[in-house]
Amino acid sequence: MTGTTAAVLPAVDFDLPADEAAELAEGLDHIGDEHPDTVLLVARALGAEPDARSVDILGVGPDGLRLAVGTTDGSQRPVQIPFRTPVRTSLEIYGALMGLVAAARGVVGTGEPLTSIEAEFLEDQTMTTVAATVSACRLLAPNLLEITLAGLAPLPLRGGDEYVVLMPDPPAEVLRPGFSVQDLAGIPLEAAPRAAYTMRARRPASGEGDVWLVLHGDEGAVSSRLAAAGPGTPIAVWGTRRSYDPPAGVRTHLLVCDETALGAVAAVLDGLAPDARAVVVAETADAGGRPDLPVRPGVEVRWVDRSGAAPGTTPALLDGVRAALAESPLLADRDGVFVFGAGEAARMRELRTSLRQETGLARDRVRLTGYWNAAR
Ligand SMILES: Cc1cc2nc3c(=O)[nH]c(=O)nc-3n(C[C@H](O)[C@H](O)[C@H](O)COP(=O)(O)OP(=O)(O)OC[C@H]3O[C@@H](n4cnc5c(N)ncnc54)[C@H](O)[C@@H]3O)c2cc1C
Repeated sequence: MTGTTAAVLPAVDFDLPADEAAELAEGLDHIGDEHPDTVLLVARALGAEPDARSVDILGVGPDGLRLAVGTTDGSQRPVQIPFRTPVRTSLEIYGALMGLVAAARGVVGTGEPLTSIEAEFLEDQTMTTVAATVSACRLLAPNLLEITLAGLAPLPLRGGDEYVVLMPDPPAEVLRPGFSVQDLAGIPLEAAPRAAYTMRARRPASGEGDVWLVLHGDEGAVSSRLAAAGPGTPIAVWGTRRSYDPPAGVRTHLLVCDETALGAVAAVLDGLAPDARAVVVAETADAGGRPDLPVRPGVEVRWVDRSGAAPGTTPALLDGVRAALAESPLLADRDGVFVFGAGEAARMRELRTSLRQETGLARDRVRLTGYWNAAR
C-alpha cells in the first residue's frame, strides 16, 4: 500500500505501510522545522542553487528528495536531489538523507560552518555513558511512577524538557570508558532495551534527578524494567538533549501532553519567566491520574480524561486544545502563542495538522513531538 500523508506534511511516495509512511513524513517535517540550515546546505551544494535563501521539503520518493527552494528574487523553484543508490525502507531513506548531508559537506568543504545536524552528530560522540543508580521511587498516580536517579552529575544541565536515554541493567560493554550514544547503534534493542525519558527535575548539588515514568503494563521492555527497579538498580544514561526552544516574541505557552510528557510540561513550567503566561492541556486516564503541576497565577491547567479508553486512542487532547483556544482569555492574543508538547505519535500528528489548518499559527510556533507509538 502506498503511504499517504496529510497535505501539510511532506509527501512520502514509497510503498510503505501507512503508519510507517506517516512517521517518515513526520520525521521529514521535523528535519524541515528543526534543521532548516542543513536542508539549505543540501539545496545549495547539491541542487545547483548556491543563492538559495530558504527551503521547504516537499517530499521524498525513489528518485530522491524534493525541495522548494526560495531564491533571492523571492520566487520558489522545485529542486530534485537524487539519492546515490536506490532506497526502499525508512532506515535506508534516513541513511540516504545523511548521505546527502555528507555529500553536500564534501562540495562546500570545511570553510562553511557546521549545520545543526552535523553539530548534533559530533555532539553525540561526546555523549558517553553515565552510570547512574535508582535511589528512590514514589507512586504519583496509579500509572505514574517518579523514579529518582543518583549519579547524574556528569550529565550536561540544559533545563526545560531535557531528556535522556535510559537503559536499565546495562551490559558491561556499554559501561566501558568512551562508549557513546552513537555506539548504541551496534547493540540490538532486544539485547539491551533502552528508551528516551524526560528529566522532570534535576538537583545538581546532589547529582540527583527525577523521571516521571508511565506504567503501561508488562509489554514495554524498558518501562517494566524501570518499574521493577529498586534502590541501587544500575541504569545507564546518555544525554542530554532538549527540544523546547520557543522563538522570540512568544508571550503565551500552550503546553499539551498525555502522561508521557507530564514531566516535560512540568519542567517547562518550572523554567518559565515569572510573568510568562501558560495554558496546559493534559490528558490522563481519569481524575485519579493527575499529579501536582507547578501552577501559579497566569498558568491555567485544563485536564482532559480518556474516560476509560486506552491511551492514544481518543481525540481527547485535540478536543481539549480546541476548547482552550476558543475559551481561554490567555490564548486570545494568538500572535504571541507557542504550542509545545508531546504524546502518542498519531495523536500529535492529528493535533499538529489541525493547529496549522485552523489557527494559522506559523510553523515555528508549533512543536509537537510523538513520544510513543500505539501502532507498535
Ligand atoms: C524525547 C522523549 C521523551 C520521553 N519522555 C518520557 C517520560 O518522561 N516518561 C514516559 O513515561 N515516557 C517518555 N517517553 C516515551 C517512552 O520513551 C516510550 O513510552 C517508550 O516506548 C517506552 O519504552 P518501552 O520499552 O517501555 O515500550 P515499547 O517496547 O516501546 O512499547 C511496547 C508497547 O507498549 C506501548 N507503549 C509504549 N509507551 C506507551 C505509553 N506511554 N502508554 C501506553 N502504551 C505504551 C507500545 O505501543 C507497544 O505496544 C519519551 C519519549 C521521547 C521520544
